Amino acid sequence: MSKPHAIIIGAGFTGTATAHDLALRGFDVTVIERGDICHGTSGRTHGLLHSGGRYAVKDQESAIECITENTILRRIVPQVIEPNGGLFIALDESDLAYAEQFIESCEECHIPLEEIKPQEALRREPHINPRVLTAFMIPDGTFDPLRLALAFAGTAKRNGAKFRTYTEVKKLITDGKGNITGVNLLDLKSGKSAELYADIVVNATGAWAGEIVETVGVNVPVKPTPGVMVAFEQRFVQRTVNRLNKPGDGDIVLPQRRMVVVGTTSFEVDSLDYVPVLEDHVKLMIERGAQLIPAIAGAKIRGKYMATRPLIGGGEGRSVARTFKCYDHKEMHNLDGLVTITGGKATTLRAMAEKTADVVCTKLGINAPCVTAETPLLSYRQYYLQPNEDFS
Ligand SMILES: Cc1cc2nc3c(=O)[nH]c(=O)nc-3n(C[C@H](O)[C@H](O)[C@H](O)COP(=O)(O)OP(=O)(O)OC[C@H]3O[C@@H](n4cnc5c(N)ncnc54)[C@H](O)[C@@H]3O)c2cc1C
Repeated sequence: MSKPHAIIIGAGFTGTATAHDLALRGFDVTVIERGDICHGTSGRTHGLLHSGGRYAVKDQESAIECITENTILRRIVPQVIEPNGGLFIALDESDLAYAEQFIESCEECHIPLEEIKPQEALRREPHINPRVLTAFMIPDGTFDPLRLALAFAGTAKRNGAKFRTYTEVKKLITDGKGNITGVNLLDLKSGKSAELYADIVVNATGAWAGEIVETVGVNVPVKPTPGVMVAFEQRFVQRTVNRLNKPGDGDIVLPQRRMVVVGTTSFEVDSLDYVPVLEDHVKLMIERGAQLIPAIAGAKIRGKYMATRPLIGGGEGRSVARTFKCYDHKEMHNLDGLVTITGGKATTLRAMAEKTADVVCTKLGINAPCVTAETPLLSYRQYYLQPNEDFS
């Protein structure tokens, strides 16, 4: 019997992780991406492997997803992670007042934490604000965004998945009876159009998820929410430093290679085609970052950039949940053959893929359990070592 064919649109964290999962469950997988791997949000993410501490008080569903997946990713893809931990530091009375709720919520979400004295926090991280009043260690980490996606993509490729990059999906194809049967493609290198058919199409286009399904007249409740980040030319800290308070702008500084990156903001845009790096947001990142690490005020900026979160559900800005959702368009719009996965975080990419592959398997009547939580990923290099399919 031939393998079921799945088309995945988008090669960010979500699309590459889903390709890996479906390839392991016996699917013939084709990933279509209009840029290269991590062309969208995933290529410009902050890089914090969340422990869930940031969400524990207000969004426990996301917090539990984060600590569960943080533990799994450390096991299956340690080669792209700096398991350096994270600090939450209190700098004023309001931060101190938050501590009690923070401890209680972390315990409820099973996020291990250790309170340490200001002198000890300063011993571990000499560049943090010397006015620190108390600090908590939690199991945050940092990851290399491109290598994280490449490790999933390379392992998927080794298991037979094909990656068709620089190819844009222009439209979903319907059979006129309420089923999606494939996609219309434009090869951006040759300028040639083509059709590709499959048993199932997975829309993993993140913030662009609404645009793809609009081509067949339906919608998904994705809320593109950009944020600005600023990188500085010195690695002032060895672990993530968070402000001990409810999530806000510029309250995380984390090490990436020889830099630190301060993030982030949260705003809304009308068009995804042009999202500006707003100068007042950059100023705010410098101000807020310098509260955590005073040396940031005089540090040389290495880069200012932005990316767009694909958040789901109602609410405004930071009140929107950071969890994810897999939409079966048969249930939503009586449109079979299409699922959309969006929302979530880089940290939860594997769980998002598991959920999507479960929905796909149920729809196609395939009994193949998820094994990604126990399957170590290959080196990111595998993506380049494996020869590319010739699609011409
Ligand atoms: C500022 C910011 C900071 C963040 N920091 C963190 C963090 O520290 N830790 C964390 O865990 N999470 C973080 N996140 C969240 C995380 O980055 C995102 O949830 C994640 O990158 C989304 O991945 P995705 O694969 O769903 O979307 P994307 O990475 O955007 O992938 C979608 C892909 O679809 C492609 N595409 C779109 N339309 C088409 C088409 N028509 N044809 C072909 N291809 C198409 C795009 O080119 C893109 O590559 C952050 C997000 C933002 C915005």
